[in-house]
Amino acid sequence: MNDSTVSSGDGSPRQIPSFFNQFEGVPTASLNGRAVTLPVPVPSRAGREINGKSNSPTSDILSGQFVAIMDYLDNPEEAQKQPLQFRKVSDFSAQTSSPFAPTPLPFQFVPNCWDHRLFQGPTDTTLVSLGLNTLDLEKELLKGILTRLETGETTVEDINYYFQELGNDAFELSQVFRHMPKGETHLHLTGLPNVETWIKWAQDANLWFEKDTFKCISTKEKEAFDAKLKELKAQRKELTDRKRGSKDYSHTNETSFSQNDRSQLEEVKKKLKKLEKKKFFPASMLTEDSSLEGEFKAKVTIRAEEKKCHSKFFKTFGVFERIANYIPAQSFYEVLSRYARIEKLFYVETSKGFEAIFEENEKEKLLDQFPKMKSQCNTSSSEEDIAEEEEVSSDLDSIKTFDDPKSSSCSSDDESLDLEYDETLDAIFSDPIKLTKFMEKWITLLEPAVKRSVLFYEEYLNSIDPLLQPQKNDSKSVYKYHLEPTRSRYINVDINRAQHLLLFLADVLVAFQLIKLEFEKGLSRVVGVVVSGPEDSSNALRYRDKQFMALDFLRNRSVYKDIVPLSLHAGELTANVTASEYMYNAIKDCISLAKPNRLGHLLCLEYEDNWEETVEEIRDKIGVEICLRSNDKMFGKKDNHPILKLAQKGIGFTLNTDDPGVIGTSPHSERVEVYTRYRDLANLTYGKFKNMERGHLRHGFARGEQIYKPSTPFHFDKGTAEFDEGIAEFVEKTSYQFKEGFEGCYLPNWEPSEEALALLQSSPKARLQVDMERKFYEFERKHIIPKMKIWARKKLSS
Ligand SMILES: [Zn+2]
Repeated sequence: MNDSTVSSGDGSPRQIPSFFNQFEGVPTASLNGRAVTLPVPVPSRAGREINGKSNSPTSDILSGQFVAIMDYLDNPEEAQKQPLQFRKVSDFSAQTSSPFAPTPLPFQFVPNCWDHRLFQGPTDTTLVSLGLNTLDLEKELLKGILTRLETGETTVEDINYYFQELGNDAFELSQVFRHMPKGETHLHLTGLPNVETWIKWAQDANLWFEKDTFKCISTKEKEAFDAKLKELKAQRKELTDRKRGSKDYSHTNETSFSQNDRSQLEEVKKKLKKLEKKKFFPASMLTEDSSLEGEFKAKVTIRAEEKKCHSKFFKTFGVFERIANYIPAQSFYEVLSRYARIEKLFYVETSKGFEAIFEENEKEKLLDQFPKMKSQCNTSSSEEDIAEEEEVSSDLDSIKTFDDPKSSSCSSDDESLDLEYDETLDAIFSDPIKLTKFMEKWITLLEPAVKRSVLFYEEYLNSIDPLLQPQKNDSKSVYKYHLEPTRSRYINVDINRAQHLLLFLADVLVAFQLIKLEFEKGLSRVVGVVVSGPEDSSNALRYRDKQFMALDFLRNRSVYKDIVPLSLHAGELTANVTASEYMYNAIKDCISLAKPNRLGHLLCLEYEDNWEETVEEIRDKIGVEICLRSNDKMFGKKDNHPILKLAQKGIGFTLNTDDPGVIGTSPHSERVEVYTRYRDLANLTYGKFKNMERGHLRHGFARGEQIYKPSTPFHFDKGTAEFDEGIAEFVEKTSYQFKEGFEGCYLPNWEPSEEALALLQSSPKARLQVDMERKFYEFERKHIIPKMKIWARKKLSS
């Protein structure tokens, strides 16, 4: 017998019936100012403020309900007459007033914030008799689940229960997640193929690798290299012979080996030394020589790495990106198709660089004209200097400094002018008028490169177009309105933040222009912009705010307004790669300056001044892309991962692989990892995973209206800002409610209303969402329900 007591309304101690203790997860709460372990889950956990209406303090409701429960349980006779009443979550949302107000008997328990295993009725309003001593609530529950399994009315809570029962059975979980429909929105295309694929491609293309760096060249380039080597050797021989000859006959032929020849020989020797250092081997050797193969694999993947290897990770791309130059573009999308098929991806956004293409010397000429950052030595300038600096920056004429291309070259050898010139970039970005002029000017200057690049990449997109189509759903007649999703694979332009601001700007312009053209043509192969690359690189740190401001400026231009969605890698920083000063408020600044639609990683969330305020900026408005094992492998970020805080606050996020080929991640194993690691800490359920997948499309860059109602705005009581799991539960459950007319859209025989049909016709995103809901429905019927039936029957008979 359990001897815990709790004080009742009148202060007298009450015994807590021990049978409740057989259930796990009994919560702790404060009752009448005392911390007690409650035998029943606490109803008020689901939020202190619902629909803007504040509830009475937790303990009041709690004691009201609790005392009522205790009274009830103390009086079995009464219990027989007045059975406990359970209410389903669906009733809960329909409720007009607060569902948490104390109610007279029969109680209205609200199961969404209670342990679902205890309070789940088989029908909407279920009356369950609680005979205190003989009661086996779990059996009641299982019976209910089995009935629903057999009548085809299984609820997501039923599956949640089953999931909990699966525990940490990683094998079984892996099976479930393999087949579960999934999305992927943070996936770098170059990071997708695995190293074995790269080797095969390199062999197919007859590439040669340089032994030390594993950088590759084509056979043609290798031939040219050999020819050059041969030519230089011949030159060396010829010059050396002449030199020798001139020595032998120095007294007769003094001029045969001139000073000019001498320096030529030196030059040739130097060149030869450099070239002879390079040893190439054919790609075919990678599979013939196992030690070489091992060396290569170790160099270009971090799959087997135990420790953080962030810098190595970025180096791998140096090898891959070179191979990519010799590989037909289609190959990548074939890999993507296979990946999507195997991993049951209903929606994929991959990202890929579309770097601006410059002609010879064009880049250098532009760089010469580009204003520099304020140099570091100026940061400690006196107040007087600062005042002077401000004066300079308010002078609009200073923008003329780089209006004339010639002016920059003449200033280059003048130290003082150079310094003034250095200050210009900071000055420009701190003044909106100057920034406008600056941007307009550079849009014009970069136009030839942008035009050239866009033409080139349009060709590229045409060549891969068929591979961006979704897989046809061959058998089903579910799409009887001919509303198949048009595409389920999209490309975002990946812009490297670790480059000079000018080149960043050029790439941004190429991206924006490409997206605009696609939009105008009614195409959607390229839909959005991603900013990635090592955030801790000098350029990324130096230009961070300016990059954001430039992006925001362009997104607000009328030509690009509302057509360029933006996803930023933000706060992908840890103390082992960068100084803390670069992490303070990195996320908040990114949100306020760049106004992104999605954010990736958020690793340094703990460095925000007020992380709770920052995540409130994110809630519902900004999608969050979590790449758990990428963070693990690259940064050793395992403990203290922000995913937990996000889950606890009910902030939606999606799970992604980042660079599966390099890191060794896969969509399903990523989910197994998150589930096993955070199941208890973040109270993860099947329903939450389903919502994570839905999040890929809710915040996805596929265009059009959603089939869900806008998220219910939710305000939690700042006064009690400490974590409240119940809030997260509540938010999660109200996040994905179908719009009117879409309630049964996942059923094969669904008949859309006229409005629903119109929405579907106009919105590719809505079509994808209906398609996804149907895939979930199929998945549950095929891969979950049969297993659940066996499990429930077995449990009931034991
Ligand atoms: Zn990434």
